[in-house]
Amino acid sequence: MNDRDNKSQKGYLFIVSGPSGVGKTVLCNHIVKKFAPKVVYSISTTSRVPRGGETDGQEYNFCTSQEFETAIKQNAFAEWASVHGNYYGTPRKFLTDEMNSGRHVVLNIDVQGAMKIHGEYPEAIMIFILPPSFEELENRIRKRNMDSEKSLKNRLENARKELSYKEKYKYTIVNDDLELAKAEMENIFSEFVD
Ligand code: 5GP
Repeated sequence: MNDRDNKSQKGYLFIVSGPSGVGKTVLCNHIVKKFAPKVVYSISTTSRVPRGGETDGQEYNFCTSQEFETAIKQNAFAEWASVHGNYYGTPRKFLTDEMNSGRHVVLNIDVQGAMKIHGEYPEAIMIFILPPSFEELENRIRKRNMDSEKSLKNRLENARKELSYKEKYKYTIVNDDLELAKAEMENIFSEFVD
């Protein structure tokens, strides 16, 4: 009997982390499409302001800081963290409902949240996405250019901190060539998803 059986949860939990701009979301979207309907994406709640093109309920559930703080008190998050000055959290109900239904859930979360949830779900499959180099990551973040200069600096500083956690993850993927990185992600998921 493994930990997953002990918790009577039938689905696996996949945690994907890596610095901002490394391509986590593209890779997660690819996996969810490839393995649908067995693998589902956990839509996080955030107090961050939506960027152009983002829709409430799609990329994130957007809320105010106050609403987020109320939800923390109600124990509505399996984990939450403050990243780049905004709150981000994983809704607990979605996670447990999906896993209990036998679906596998992908979390695209920062390292702080990943460490917290790994404590609760030690059997979670931990994947870290790396840039080919820090310089390349900086270029990508600058190219995205959706953030103010201050927020950009904050993201770069945070990226260095995030990178220092990579040893805590069982799998690492270098996202240099996107197609290769997608194939590597698929290989990892194929080990667990029938
Ligand atoms: P962005 O603002 O660029 O969409 O996301 C910023 C960071 O927050 C990313 O590293 C992303 O993985 C992380 N993040 C997104 N959702 C969550 C969440 O629910 N919990 C935690 N801890 N981090 C999250």
